[in-house]
Order: sequence, then C-alpha cells, then structure tokens
Amino acid sequence: MIVTADYSFFDSVIRSFDKAARFTSWDPGILEQIKACNSIYSMKFPVRIGDNIEVIEAYRVQHSHHKSPCKGGIRFSMEVNQDEVMALAALMTYKCAIVNVPFGGAKGGIKIDPKKYTAFELEKITRRYTSELIKKNFIGPGTDVPAPDYGTGAREMAWILDTYVAMHPGEVDAAGCVTGKPVSQGGVRGRTEATGMGVFFGIREVCNMADVMAKLGLTVGVEGKSVVVQGLGNVGYHSAKYFREGGAKVIAIAEWEGAIYNADGLNEEEVFQHRKAKGTILNFPGGTNLPLTSDALELECDILIPAALENVINGQNAPRIKAKIIGEAANGPLTPEADEILSLKGTLVVPDMYLNAGGVTVSYFEWLKNLSHVRYGRLEKRFTENMNKHIIGQMEDMTGKTIDPKEKKFIEHGADEIDLVHSGLEETMVTATREIMEVWNANPEIPDMRTAAYVCAINKVATSYAELGIFP
Ligand code: GLU
Repeated sequence: MIVTADYSFFDSVIRSFDKAARFTSWDPGILEQIKACNSIYSMKFPVRIGDNIEVIEAYRVQHSHHKSPCKGGIRFSMEVNQDEVMALAALMTYKCAIVNVPFGGAKGGIKIDPKKYTAFELEKITRRYTSELIKKNFIGPGTDVPAPDYGTGAREMAWILDTYVAMHPGEVDAAGCVTGKPVSQGGVRGRTEATGMGVFFGIREVCNMADVMAKLGLTVGVEGKSVVVQGLGNVGYHSAKYFREGGAKVIAIAEWEGAIYNADGLNEEEVFQHRKAKGTILNFPGGTNLPLTSDALELECDILIPAALENVINGQNAPRIKAKIIGEAANGPLTPEADEILSLKGTLVVPDMYLNAGGVTVSYFEWLKNLSHVRYGRLEKRFTENMNKHIIGQMEDMTGKTIDPKEKKFIEHGADEIDLVHSGLEETMVTATREIMEVWNANPEIPDMRTAAYVCAINKVATSYAELGIFP
C-alpha cells in the first residue's frame, strides 16, 4: 500500500467499511465501535547495533476486543507506520470474522529493513520488542497472539516464544502466545503453504459456481483455465502449485525483474529452481521472456493472481487488464480506482481480506493445538486405519474380489495432522466463499464482492457485540 502524507490506508479501510455499512441496518453506534481501533501501543526502544545505539520504532495495534485473543502478524519493513498498522489490524478483524476464526484483529510492525541486520541483531530487536509487549500485556495466549507477516517467519516466531516462555515460567499454555512457529517449537504442519492453498480453494469455489461463470463467459471449474501469477514468493509459489495440480495452466509467472510465458503452462518448481540458480526468472528454458512485469499483468487470461506487492493494479493499468477473475493473494494489490474501473468492466475481483485468510485460519489450528497439547490425528489415526482395514477385509471376503493395493492403501489411511489441517482449510475457504456470495446474491445493489465480504464481516462482528449485551 502507498502511505504518503496525503494518503491514509486506515481511511481507505474506513471508506470500504462505510460503503458496505449502507447495506446493513446496524445502529450507527455499533458501526462506530466496530470501526475504531481499541488499543494502540506505539513504542520506541533502544538496541545496541555494533558500536551504536539505535532507537527502534515499533507498534502493536489491537483493532477489536469483541473476541479474545486478538490475532495478527508482525511485519518488519521500512514502510511501517501507525496508520498502516491500524489499517492492517482492522483488516484482520474483518478477515477473521469472514472465515469464522474467533479472534479480534491485531497487527504489529517494527520499522526496520531486516536485510540490513545480522541474524543476531534481528534476534535482539525481536526479543526486545517481545519484552515491550509483555510489559504492557500486549501478548499472551488469551490476550494477543502474533504471527508472521511481511519480513518475518518461523524463526522470528521462535524467538518471540522463547522470550515469552522465559518471562512466564510454568505457564502451561505459553506455546499459544504466537503462531507460525517451527513444528519443533509447537507449530502446526501445513502453515507454510496455507495462504497459497487458501487462495486456490477460494478461487476454485468461485469457478465451481455455474451462475458466476456464465456471467463471466467462462466454463465451470478450474480445469483448463489460464492463470497468471505475479510474485514467486511463498504465496505466489503455492498458489501456482495448487492451480497447476488442479488442472489449470499457469501461462505466466512474473517477478520484479520481468516475466516468463508459456501458453502450455509452466511448472512453478522448475521456474523457482531456475531463478534460484540464475538469479533471474528470465531466460527460463521452457518459456518466452516478457521484459516487464506489467506485460504479464496485462496478458489475456482467465485468472490473474497478484501475489506480491501492493497497488500493482491502479487507475493507470486497470483499463488494460484482460483477466476475467482477479484473485487478490497479496494485501491491497488493487487501488480503489482500479476497483471501480474493473467493476464497470465486469471483472470479478475476489478480495484479499478473505482470499488470503488461509494463513490466519491455519494459525487458529496451531493455537488450538497448543491449547490442547496434542498433535492433530494422534488419537484417532490408528483407530481409523484399523477400522478401515477391517471394513475392506469384510468387503473382500463377502465379494470374493480383491481391491487394488494402491486404492487399498488410500482407503485405509487414517488422517495425519497435515490431512486434517488441509481439510479444515478447504472447509473454511469453501464456506466463506459461499457465505459472501449468498450475501451478494441476496442484495443485487451490492456493487462488488469486496463490499459483500465487508457486509458479511460487519454483520458477524455486530452480532457478536449485540449478543454480548454491550448494545442492547
Ligand atoms: N500475517 C497473516 C495475515 O495477515 C497471518 C496472521 C496470523 O496468522 O495471525 O493474515
């Protein structure tokens, strides 16, 4: 997102909220309360870097206390400022509501360029930030649970956990104070690919809706659809992988240095390995170079997945976008001007706020795992396998036929943690897509899917306040 003196990201979230609130009938007081950031912690702390003492600027914003704990990532970026963290915290509230993850929204940020520091220095900064959060009770399994975001990952989450545990000796649920941890530190299997997989499940569900596809002039289903992916980071890579495995053709992949194209489809892993070896996505043996990232964005295709930077589709290039569906895998890849232009053109924009909710959904599973102190599948896996083996044995005895060994193995298989996480994610994304579409179908005045998603979120958060009895 662009955060300049004359642009407020938080105001733009408020604008989208207000646009949607018109389609609800909640008391204006409830709407004001939902919009407001409940707690804002702005901090400055010193860290010794080499011979100097650096004063680090950081934030944690808890947007909504309508549910506990609050939840949201921590980003390390030079763009971090209070307005941005407030906006991202607000989006977390709406995101969690849409996918029925029972948390209030939060976000944290440290204004640093992580590439400029050694691992040791980053660890010092992360641990000091965590101590500041502990001091003000802004972290804990029942109060506020951070996670990875732009510029952070499992390593930083492990440092946060270790600092928290050291200062809360004997706290039995301490592992639930942060998610996105390494599996060895209480993380859950499936967190890494969660966002990209969620993007695929959400778009696949849209593609399975016959009425929506008819309006776009597309056939039902993901199979055979042409897909352009912008960004080969974690989210872009996994989105491309699941689209390819789902039978779509990833005809172009773009990175900041340029893009490559192949009408018959690209394999994301081969492209990734090529880029790793050569330092550029260009000159991939199985593709044609497109010199500019924008060339890929403007290609004729069924589905465009912007999975990298913010504001990549704006008032200038939106008229040239030819994709029928845009799946916002990144946060804020479309500006409000682009939204208006694309809506008039009849392009279906599947909004970021819910489409990239796979990460927080699997974070919720991780938190539940930490509170229950048991790995998913541990209790029932063997029981299910024994039962399935028994059923197959009975069937073979009764029919006198034997089941193909490969099929037999598949049917017998009891669910592991990864199977359960993937299936929970699929269920979440499918249900959320249907709920948003139902809200949209019920009111044809709602202009776009983003507004429908906001209506859905507002209704859920408002209901929760109303049922708490805060607003009788
Ligand atoms: N940072 C991710 C997001 O913005 C994940 C948040 C979480 O897992 O709490 O959705």
